[in-house]
Amino acid sequence: MRASKMLISTLKEAPNEAKIDSHVLLLRAGMIKNLVAGVYNYLPFGLRVLNKIEKIIREEMDDSGAIEILCSALQPKELWEESGRWSKYGPELMRFSDRHEREFCLGPTHEEVFTSMARDLIKSSKTLPINMYQIQTKYRDEVRPRFGLMRGREFIMKDAYSFDKDEAGLEVSYQNMYETYTKIFTRLGLHFQAVLADTGNIGGNGSHQFMALSDIGESEIVYCDACGYAADVEKATIRLGDADNAAIKEMELVNTPQAKTIEEISNFLGVDPKCTIKTIIYHDYQNERLVAAVVRGDREVNEIKLVNAIDGNENYLELATDKEIYDLGSIHGFCGPKDLKCDIFIDEEVTLMKNAVIGANQKDYHYVNANFGRDFTGTVCDLKKATAGDLCPCCGMPMKQNRGIEVGQIFKLQTKYSEAMKCVYVDEQGKNVPMVMGCYGIGVTRTLQSIVEQYHDEFGIKWPLNVAPYHAVIVPINYNDEAQQALAHELYAKLKSEGIEVVLDDRNAKPGFKFKDWELIGLPFMVVCGKLASEGIVEFKDRHTMEKVELSMNDAVAKIVEAVKNIK
Ligand code: ATP
Ligand code: MG
Repeated sequence: MRASKMLISTLKEAPNEAKIDSHVLLLRAGMIKNLVAGVYNYLPFGLRVLNKIEKIIREEMDDSGAIEILCSALQPKELWEESGRWSKYGPELMRFSDRHEREFCLGPTHEEVFTSMARDLIKSSKTLPINMYQIQTKYRDEVRPRFGLMRGREFIMKDAYSFDKDEAGLEVSYQNMYETYTKIFTRLGLHFQAVLADTGNIGGNGSHQFMALSDIGESEIVYCDACGYAADVEKATIRLGDADNAAIKEMELVNTPQAKTIEEISNFLGVDPKCTIKTIIYHDYQNERLVAAVVRGDREVNEIKLVNAIDGNENYLELATDKEIYDLGSIHGFCGPKDLKCDIFIDEEVTLMKNAVIGANQKDYHYVNANFGRDFTGTVCDLKKATAGDLCPCCGMPMKQNRGIEVGQIFKLQTKYSEAMKCVYVDEQGKNVPMVMGCYGIGVTRTLQSIVEQYHDEFGIKWPLNVAPYHAVIVPINYNDEAQQALAHELYAKLKSEGIEVVLDDRNAKPGFKFKDWELIGLPFMVVCGKLASEGIVEFKDRHTMEKVELSMNDAVAKIVEAVKNIK
């Protein structure tokens, strides 16, 4: 490709919207262009990367035995009513009606569609197991679309759905996908970790997320170096410490003016936050009630665990307002579990505490020496967010913490959708049995940006060779110089004949300008034809190491050919 004929649209400065390096670089390198909040157009270089990522995903999915299909993004309401999700999905679902007032949504995911396909198409149990996948555009009206492709309202996902006869079959399909995802993310060059993930109201240890490790990741992971346990903090459990065996003291009401936060109350009373108890009141819109979540003072409430405990829905859970708290007979900043007139959920760790500080549900008052069982009670469950230093639930060693970008998730759905939607097969006894399902997603566009997040420097992107938009670029210092132009063309022809994806920068621009462009765009190799062109000598630059060497033209070609040959 000749640079003069390409739509190179690099920018000096990134638009204000971009807050993280990978977003800035994708915009500045002219890989993507924003259309409206959370929606992007893919420009030529970005599209080439996207196609390569999709190719790797396809190769591995096909190799796993999965079958590719392509479904419509448009989905009728009736299917979502069958699964019960039309009313449950919340405002993220992009809904609309056609001219006949028939309701539809733009698919945020395709469980309903694939389940209906399996129901209609699979006539015999001999077809099972089967795993069908697609690479397709999804729509989610995210509350806060941000960070470019990381959280879009329109994005590309690879989604797959497996159908098995029984649990044992699902286990095999799930393991197969776990291994396939490991191969895909390894080939994409990502530094990643597979972690246990929350399964919402389905329960069980039936899900893993694949996390691209990154400080800007929205997900927090705890992991144990000793035994390999790793989990999203939404899911992570911990081994509890021993119960405090101090003697129980008499509870006392104490005046604590202005001490509203755990920090303020700990300072005021001179106690460790670990000896205080935090009570947070939520409005559970799913079950239309107020609930209190009670955790140790230094802990955070894990809202996903709370949703599971209260049988709620994360889209329908909000912090209670000051007025709601007041109407309950309490007051914001002084809430406590004693005599609180709502459903109370207590983290198991709180039951091990003795003589703790709790809010007294009156302005400027707390109780000291409060004890679970004697002074307050509630439903005991796991509500806390795990953190670094907590003990591993498997081996008891202290855990570490990391941040990650969720690039994929695999999930044992079991019969949630097949039962609701009557997706059954006939077994040997002639009985209708619901198929046992799994679902498996990869955020393709989020993965693209995650690669940039892991592969960049102050000059721009450093694409791994196997997903780079092109392998190499040839830059004549002065395109009008005869020797340089001749050598550049010879090189270009040679590289192309060897199957190398190469750009010839034939633009009439200053060399510094061209170098900056290619460093930003991030092609792995640059071959510069300069002063020594008449002797057949070029300067060879490696974008990853930024090393430059002088080589003969043939050696430069050989080096690139060798590297490309080794792409996995
Ligand atoms: P998140 O927790 O980040 O909102 P999710 O768990 O809702 O994601 P899934 O339903 O598991 O997402 O979708 C499969 C994959 O699609 C995710 O692992 C992620 O990589 C990607 N994905 C989900 N939402 C978005 C989005 N808004 N923009 C880009 N990619 C997304
Ligand atoms: Mg997910």
